Amino acid sequence: MIKIVNATKIYENGSRGVQDVTLTIDKGEFAFIVGSSGSGKSTLIKILLRELDLTEGEVFINNEDITFFGKKEIPFLRRKMGVVFQDFRLLPNKTVYENVSFAMQITDASSREIRRNVPMVLSMVGLQKKSKAYPNQLSGGEQQRCALARAIVNNPPILLCDEPTGNLDPDTAWDIMNLLDEINSRGTTVVMATHAWDIVDAMKKRVIAMKNGFVVRDVERGGYSNDDYA
Ligand code: ADP
Ligand code: MG
Repeated sequence: MIKIVNATKIYENGSRGVQDVTLTIDKGEFAFIVGSSGSGKSTLIKILLRELDLTEGEVFINNEDITFFGKKEIPFLRRKMGVVFQDFRLLPNKTVYENVSFAMQITDASSREIRRNVPMVLSMVGLQKKSKAYPNQLSGGEQQRCALARAIVNNPPILLCDEPTGNLDPDTAWDIMNLLDEINSRGTTVVMATHAWDIVDAMKKRVIAMKNGFVVRDVERGGYSNDDYA
């Protein structure tokens, strides 16, 4: 489903984002990307989103080479991948309902589909009663649940998350984790970059550890290792 082959990203200023990364993530997997700050986690997520051009290497999604996808093909990619960030990134002037429905509008969904899917995902994340609220009227956990609803409303086969629990207190972080686990158990491939060692240890999922841009460890049903902090 996701295949990255010998990927290297060197930023314009010479910083090494990722170095010679080769990875395969199968359909339906849940994979954590762990490692200290600056190890290359966000760079890897941005490579999958095609927000960054690779310096070397290739990226495939469902056997399709997306390495050189341009602006024209980006909407296609957005239907394949939902994304959630640490800082929620909701549109401040839109309600919860509008934030989620907007994500469907940009993929040319019909208004009938929108009226059906938006309430469905809002109830899945437990926000049905907040659909008319604006982001600044929500707690951090509610904002992230809204961002999650937006990420999955088009039913993408892949969900990418970059530190999705980074701004949340521990209980709220676990609410989000449980939702991600549920989304994964319904068949969505989930890739989550995180620092949250307690969550990684408890979930017993695949753990891909990065250091200085390299993948240094990749284990099934792993935990966070002390080496990952070094
Ligand atoms: P992480 O998400 O694990 O904290 P990043 O992928 O953000 O790591 O960063 C990996 C490396 O790439 C770091 O050395 C960082 O300074 C560098 N880097 C990230 N983004 C940029 C950028 N836009 N320009 C230059 N260097 C960058
Ligand atoms: Mg990061």
